[in-house]
Amino acid sequence: MKPFSYVRPDTPAAAVEAFAAAGAEARYIAGGTTLYDLMKLDIERPGHLIDVTAIEGLDRIETGGRELRFEALAPMADVAEDPVVLRDYPVLAEALAKAASQQLRNMATVGGNLLQRTRCAYFRGGPQGAYPCNKREPGSGCAAMDGLDRGQAVLGQSSSCNAVSPGDWPVALVALDARVELLGPSGARSVPVGELYRLPGETPHLEFNLEPGEMITAIVVPKTPAGRLSTYHKIRDRESYAFALASAAVALEMGGRRVTRARIALGGVATRPWRASAAESLLAGRVLTPETAMEAGRAAFAEARPGHHNGFKIELGARTVADALMMAAGRTGQ
Ligand code: SF4
Repeated sequence: MKPFSYVRPDTPAAAVEAFAAAGAEARYIAGGTTLYDLMKLDIERPGHLIDVTAIEGLDRIETGGRELRFEALAPMADVAEDPVVLRDYPVLAEALAKAASQQLRNMATVGGNLLQRTRCAYFRGGPQGAYPCNKREPGSGCAAMDGLDRGQAVLGQSSSCNAVSPGDWPVALVALDARVELLGPSGARSVPVGELYRLPGETPHLEFNLEPGEMITAIVVPKTPAGRLSTYHKIRDRESYAFALASAAVALEMGGRRVTRARIALGGVATRPWRASAAESLLAGRVLTPETAMEAGRAAFAEARPGHHNGFKIELGARTVADALMMAAGRTGQ
């Protein structure tokens, strides 16, 4: 492993300053559950680590105001077990609970989780240069295109990369129109969580819309009555500690059996957390039945393009959306 320097500033401003002074080889670190793995695999080779865990108050969870506010260092486990989140926003609690083991949820932070990198086996497998990978080595090619692509994306892929965005938590946040607050050398700004993620296009090594030195400081979720009628449904090869083959975050506003507004986002099938706008539009004003739910599921995948071994994700994904819609609607009256 490449040697690196280490500092532990105690304010966000000092962290940003330390990053700017360290230059392009710097990385922020909090829970470390992704970065240390990638350093051991020689994929991330930081020269300087800026440990932000000594920043006081950056782990607060606030649910009493007009919005839910999760400071970036709040552990995933604490947010997943917060009583207000559990009662009023099950889609958030379930996405976090299904994202990782309890041990990892205790360490990992809600801010860091947004920046997880892909689990594409060719990206992570073997020493540098073992497989061509445009994300790992720009311009080297993509081993997944003609390789085993069972786990790869059917939405949002390019001829340069078809790697799936691995997160669960970001999918739930995208469904609820959450925003992420950032702090960097040019000051503070806030962007929708969905806009944090880039499509691979010709530059799959650029995954996030972050300026150099920007750190995530908080996640803000607008309160909505749809939170109570919500769920995160995740289908995977085994029931625990696995990444999604297909997942759906769903939140509904209902007038009786009729959908007033549906929010649907997909995970495990796309190159970034994927808002299913066509499915949402299809449901507006419709009575929700298993048949209309399935119609919405199919609409969510109308633009999907399968590779060699992942065509099953289209039917699986459509059924995942349909099941999630019925599960969320079934929460009426809780
Ligand atoms: Fe690399 Fe993307 Fe191809 Fe995987 S799909 S090998 S991450 S370029």
